[in-house]
Parts: sequence; structure tokens; C-alpha cells
Amino acid sequence: MRGGRFGWLLRALGRGPVLPLAVAAAGVIATALLTAQLQAEGAARDRERLAAEAAQAVQRLETRLAAYESVLLGGAALFGASEEVTAEEWRGFVEGMRVGQRYPGFRSVGYAAVVPESELPAFAARLGPGGTPAEVRPVPGSGPAAGPAWVVQYVEPLEENRGSLGVRFDGAPVQRAAALAAARSGSMQMTGTVPLVRDGAPGFILFVPVYGERPAPFDAEGRERATAGWVFAVFAQEEFYRAALGVMAPEVEITVFDDSAAEGPMLFATGGQAGEELAVRRAVLGGRVVRLEVRPGAAFPVSNAALADTVAAAGTLLTVLLAGTAWLLVTWRRRAEALAARRTKELGEALALQRAIVDGAGLAILATDGQGRITRANPAAEALLGMSAEELRALPSVGHLAALGTGRGLAALIAELRPGVSIQREWLYRRPGGELLTIWVTISALPGEGGAPGGFVFIGRDVTAEREAERDRDRVFAYSIDMLAIVTGRGRFKRVSPAWERTLGWKPEELIGQSLWHFVHPDDREEQIARARAVLEGRDACDLRGRFRHADGSWRWVSFNASAATDDESYVVARDITDIVRAEEEMEETMEVLRANAVALEEQAAELDRLRIEAEYLANHDALTGALNRRAWFHQAAIHSPTAIAIFDIDYFKKINDTYGHPAGDVVLREVARRLEAAAGEAGVVGRIGGEEFAVFFTVPATEAKEIALRCVGEVAREPVAIGGGLELQVTVSGGFAPWQPAPEDRPLDALSVTYEAADRALYRAKEAGRHRLAAA
Ligand code: GH3
Ligand code: MG
Ligand code: MG
Repeated sequence: MRGGRFGWLLRALGRGPVLPLAVAAAGVIATALLTAQLQAEGAARDRERLAAEAAQAVQRLETRLAAYESVLLGGAALFGASEEVTAEEWRGFVEGMRVGQRYPGFRSVGYAAVVPESELPAFAARLGPGGTPAEVRPVPGSGPAAGPAWVVQYVEPLEENRGSLGVRFDGAPVQRAAALAAARSGSMQMTGTVPLVRDGAPGFILFVPVYGERPAPFDAEGRERATAGWVFAVFAQEEFYRAALGVMAPEVEITVFDDSAAEGPMLFATGGQAGEELAVRRAVLGGRVVRLEVRPGAAFPVSNAALADTVAAAGTLLTVLLAGTAWLLVTWRRRAEALAARRTKELGEALALQRAIVDGAGLAILATDGQGRITRANPAAEALLGMSAEELRALPSVGHLAALGTGRGLAALIAELRPGVSIQREWLYRRPGGELLTIWVTISALPGEGGAPGGFVFIGRDVTAEREAERDRDRVFAYSIDMLAIVTGRGRFKRVSPAWERTLGWKPEELIGQSLWHFVHPDDREEQIARARAVLEGRDACDLRGRFRHADGSWRWVSFNASAATDDESYVVARDITDIVRAEEEMEETMEVLRANAVALEEQAAELDRLRIEAEYLANHDALTGALNRRAWFHQAAIHSPTAIAIFDIDYFKKINDTYGHPAGDVVLREVARRLEAAAGEAGVVGRIGGEEFAVFFTVPATEAKEIALRCVGEVAREPVAIGGGLELQVTVSGGFAPWQPAPEDRPLDALSVTYEAADRALYRAKEAGRHRLAAA
């Protein structure tokens, strides 16, 4: 309704240098009418123009955000496609996208991981460049929140953004709100204003979630739980908005406010806020509502506001006035055309960029219009589907592809998809050649008009070989008696065989996602972890034994065998060896008992020896004096061929007994025996052969023996014997000495008896002669 009732006239004026005089001629009568009309129209046109500029500003922002989202979704697809993306793969992706050059205001693009608190030390130990340790610390001014840590794991370009690596933002309210919203909604979310880690300038972050489950759960809670991390991009706010909106100044001045935040703080302003009239539009950027206030700027083409006054002034000025009006309209039209041309060019650039991203991706990408008709297919899609782009475009709808395979058709899937939402499915596809493929496909609905999708993007990856390998593994897993598992580098169960439940009572869902160490006995844990690290470094672990918790709470001995499957995954074969370990322990116990018995037996043998020696001693010795007893003395004398014999008898011994008692007599007997033995020394052997009689046989020559016998008599009497109670007695002995006598002819074996009898006779003589003396035969 640009020209209203006079549209034809204005269009004619705009078309060329048509003389305003023609208008002037018709104008005198219509002056009053025209004045009013122009006034109204001028104001309306200004508003319309302003509204158009505002709408354009909104579109510029939203187009830009859509381009960023496609890059971030590509990044998220990278993480979704594999268990773990390395820092190098991430850098390769970012460099391939050349985001730094393409997106003004861009500071960094990275990946932040959800890390359980318990795994934080292990995570930090490998966080730095090249797997070196790095510090995990919260966003300045925030603390850690309850629950797992959200930590920046990769960031590119790394040089300038080193400070962001290891930043933990789960406790930073602004970052947390956007990340959580992204996780729960499954779509890109923008934060409110945050100070940039690098220089503190105001910025914002875009988050796109990456889920650890495929497909991602449908409900918000499920998605939140399944979130493994986010691909994020950080932008400097001022640069971003200036690049998108700055070019529109000075015709219009734009101020941007954050309508999602309380108070709606100002985010950006192109320049002054002078103009009165303003158009207000809202844009939704990554789930965030921003309000754009668009004012006429210094160079805003002034419309015919003053015209009405002039028209009203005088008829003579009418011509000039109308000419001026015509001129202004032409000028405005040129500006509008220039603006349109610029926008077309920008859109063209955006399309070219999109095309480059689509063609360059290793993933198969199809784009369709809102009805599902294929509009684009990248070379990877042609190769995967086995059809040329022309053939694909000729299909009535993408749903027609599903008709070639089995399973739920793509048409049914996209029918439910709302704009801005993505789903992921495994899709069975039959190539025109008949080959059956399993394709992992992510379907995103693009925004269109009136809330209906404007188109769909399909990103697909051939997972046929993976699924086949998985099926093979499944069979082994299902039937193995041993407990089989796939364990991640951080020790978490990723897959377990049914044998785990049969053997240790744990259901698969109780193990998967849990750390293996959680089940290992604390005393065995340290060694097991050290060995597991060796496995990741490429060495196999054989018969690594440890106690593992049974579901009933008991400990079972388990032998683990592990080998690295990939850089960050290991195969584990485990077997319950509790019975073997028990048997070994029992055997060890038995051995222990046997060893103890052997020691006891040795001790008993030694004791028996001791008792035997003691018995022998008792059998041969006199208990009171310790000298040989009569039987033993005679036996020894018989086998030693003595040179002489002496017999000693204590004098008046009966009197000692009678006077001092029998115990005193015993003391005297012991002392006399001791003194005789001391005197005889090595030369003779002393024996007690009667109550108070002692005999000595000698092995030294007889003359020497006689002297020793004499010394014996002297030795006994040398000093008194103490008998206790302070009493001392003078004790003497009488002795009879006989050198060895030959055996008489009638008793050839009785030399000992003959010599003994001779000594006894000599003793008798010594007694007779007055005692305390030695008589010799
Ligand atoms: P003599 O000078 O003539 O040898 O006189 P005696 O008193 O020594 O002679 P006699 O042979 O009559 O005495 C021996 C005594 O020794 C008799 C006995 O009571 C005592 N007697 C024998 N065996 C033991 C003993 O083991 N302990 C004690 N206290 N006395 C003993
Ligand atoms: Mg006697
Ligand atoms: Mg006597």
C-alpha cells in the first residue's frame, strides 16, 4: 500500500523526470486535500520504512545465528558420531570450517564435557595440550554447583584461548542457564551477557548439546540426564552486533536490548538514540529474545513531513513543493533498491558458505523443502544412497527413499518434526542395487513461515559395518561363560555380557555407566588401576586378581584379563575364581599346619633325647653326690683297665648322723665326694659304692696313683665342712690303696675283684691303725 490513493502518481514520478508542473496544474484545488494526504502518507511511509529496516535487522541477526547453528551442529555431529573426539580432530574440524575468518565477533569454539566429581582428578590429569595435566577452576566469581562438573575440554584457536581450557561453569548462573536450556531442548541456546575470559569484554556464548545416548531421549529430563557435553562458541557482543547491524547506520540507528533478562539490559547500540520515532521488533536468537529499537538516524532520508506546511502556504510554491516531493521519492526509491541489492548479495554469500559446508562435510547431507522434496544432496549423500543428485531431486519426496527400505519411513518422521528440533534415528535403507544399509541419520527441521517447517536437513552416516561387528560381538557376549565387558578409558562399563549377572548377580543396567573400580575391593583397587593404565598403554593384563563385589554384598575373587581395543577402550574377560582362591588358601593353611607339626615333632624328639640322657645319667649316677653309682663304677672300671684302685671310708660317720641329723650327714657326703673328685682330677674316676664309702680307679701309673690317693685323704681333711646353721665339722677319711693285681689262675677274669679286695683289706688296716690315713696293699 505504498502509494495509497496516489500510488499511480507517485510511481509515475519515481519512474523518471516527469515534470511536477503537471501535478501542480491539477493541484490548486486539491491543495488542501493533498496537504492532509501527504502529511499522513509521509508519516506512514516513515513508519513503514522504519518497520522494514527493523524487520531486516531482525533477519540479519537470525540468518547469522542460523549459519552459526549449522556449524555448531556439525561440531555436535562430530561428537555424536564417536565415543571420544580427540583435541586434534576438533582442531581439524574448526580449521576446516574457517570460523575465525567467516564469523565476525567470533572468539572461540570449543567442547565442554560433563564430568562426574569423582572423575575430575583423572580428567584434569589429561586435560592439557597433548594429554598433559591442567587445572580445573570455576568461572571467576562463581563456585562449583552440586552435581557433575561442566568443564571446557577443547577450545580453538588454542593459542589465544588457553585461559578457557579447564574453566568449569556449572556454578556460573548465566552459562549454566543457557547450557541447561540447550541440554533440555536439544537446540542451540544463547547466554545472556558474560565477561569474556580473555579480555573481560562483554560477550555471549552459544551452546549446542551433545548427548551420550543415541537417539537422544524425547523428554527434557531424559535429555538433561543424557547430556555428555556441549559444543559452544564464544562471541564478542559488540563486534557481533556491529558486523550484523552497523552497516545499517547512519540511515537508521539500532539499539538492542536483552528481553530474556530481567530489566532487559542494553546489549548494543549503533550510535545515538536521537530520533524520536522508533520501530520495535523482537528477534529470537538461540532461544533468547532480544528487542531491537530502530530509530531514524542522521542519514535517514527525510520524508515529506514539511511538505504539508509548504503546500498549505501558497499556490505559487506548489510547483516547487511537488517537484521536491518527486525528488525525495526518487531518492528514497534508489536507496531502497540499493538496500535490496546489498541484502541479495549477503544472502548469496550466506548460501555459498552453506554450500561449501555441505559439500565439504564427510557426512551425507540432504536438504528438502517444507514438503520434503529434495533440493540438495552433497557428494557424500549421492555416494551413500547410490543415486545421483538429479535422481534424488526427481523423487516426489524424501519419503520415497524410505519406501525402498524397511522400517519407519522418513516421511512419517518429518511429519512430526517442529522447526528448530532435531531427531536422530537408525534408518534401514536399500540401495537401488539391492544392498541393505544401516544409516544413522540426524533430521533437523528448519524454521519456515507460520510455524510450519520451511525445510528439512538430513545428515547421515553409514553404520552398517559397525552394526555387523556389533552383532558378531553380541553373539560372543551372549554365550560366553566368562564375563565379557567393554570398558572405557576412565574405567566405566560400556557393555557387559549376561555372564556378569549369572556370576556376580549384577544386571547390565546396574553396571553400565558405572566405574569398574567402584566394585573392586578398596585394598585391591590401587594395583588394579595401575595395571589397567598399562593396558591403555598397549600392554595386556593377564590373570589380574582382585576381589569384586557380588550383588548380594559378598566379595568374590575375580581374575581379569584385559587388552586395549582402541586408544580409549579395552576388552575385559573376567572369571570368578573364588573357589580356586579358596582351595589355594586351604592348601596353604594345611601346609602351615604340617609345618607347625614338623616343628613340634622336632621339639618332642629333642625332649625325648634330653629325657633319655637324663635317665641314663640317673641310672649311672648317685642322686645325692653326682658321683658314679656302684654298678656304673664297676662297669667303667671293668672296661678301662685301671692301674690302681683306692677305697675311702668316712671316719665315725655314724656319729655325725646321730649328732647333727641325717641331712647334715648328706651335706658331708656331698662335700667329701666333691673334694675326692677335685683331688683325683683327670687321673681317676670316683664312684659311691656304699653309704659313706667311695672308690677311685686310676688310669695313671700306679706310683703316681698312690700319691694322688694320699692327696685325696689330705684334701678331705684340709678344711672343715660347713653343714648349715653356722656349724662346721672336721671330717676325715681312711683309705686303702692297691695297685692293679694280676688275676689268679683259678679266677682268670677277676683281676678287678682281686684288686678291689686288696684295697678293701688295706682300708681295714688304715681303720685299725687309727683312721685318717692311707694304707697300701
Ligand atoms: P668307722 O670310723 O668305723 O667307719 O665308723 P662309722 O660310724 O663311720 O661306721 P659305720 O659303718 O658303722 O657307719 C656308717 C653309717 O653311715 C651307718 C649309716 O646310718 C650311715 N649312712 C649310710 N648311708 C647314709 C646316707 O646316705 N646318709 C646319711 N646321712 N647316713 C648314711
Ligand atoms: Mg663304713
Ligand atoms: Mg665309716
